[in-house]
Amino acid sequence: MGFNIAIDGPAGAGKSTIARKIAAELSFIYVDTGAMYRAIAYGLIQQGIGAEEQEKIAAACESIDVKIAYQDGGQIVLLNGENVNPFIRTEEVSRMTSSISVYPVVRAKLLELQRTLVAENDVLMDGRDIGTCILPNAELKVYLTASSKVRAKRRYLEYVEKGQAANLEEIEQDIIERDYRDMHREVAPLKQAEDAVVVDSSDMTIEEVVACVVALTKERMGVSEA
Ligand code: C5P
Repeated sequence: MGFNIAIDGPAGAGKSTIARKIAAELSFIYVDTGAMYRAIAYGLIQQGIGAEEQEKIAAACESIDVKIAYQDGGQIVLLNGENVNPFIRTEEVSRMTSSISVYPVVRAKLLELQRTLVAENDVLMDGRDIGTCILPNAELKVYLTASSKVRAKRRYLEYVEKGQAANLEEIEQDIIERDYRDMHREVAPLKQAEDAVVVDSSDMTIEEVVACVVALTKERMGVSEA
């Protein structure tokens, strides 16, 4: 019998960091759906298309090809065959992504790819609409959140570690705006699935969150910790 895990939550809650670790520990295939949306946004920016240009976005979606592959144990996103992982984590791409992911044409493009992945494998998938739309029957749903202050601080430290310039207030404002757009769009908004377990990581370390979700998974799988 299949076992799927859905992890949803707002920007910067630590979903991908903890999902990667949990998937490695439990030998699940990790699918980062945000990276797929980011790849489309990056492709549109490269083509000089603005977030409001719906007709051009629809036309571009017809020709854009998004695939995922696994390299050295991690997921890479291929945009028209090119690995775009190194380019999709900038603030510009983050903003564009949440602006264009409101369009049904963009979501429909990725829905098929996500459903195919789920049909072929047991997965741990993270995003915004996984527990509510993509994996409504997931055996475990986690809604991972943290205060916007904590999430902004984490993002800020990531940039500083990479030696990139960053402004804490601007990052928090961006996060708040992104959350608002993601939660208030008409199609597949970010919301907690009724049967999701809420994990607030504001005062938790990465290791604590990982241990918590691993324990929940084992409990649901009926695996004893002894
Ligand atoms: O998770 P990540 O921050 O990489 O996601 C980037 C953006 O992609 C989100 O802010 C959201 O607008 C969009 N997204 C989405 N549905 C998903 C995953 C991401 O709309 N399942």
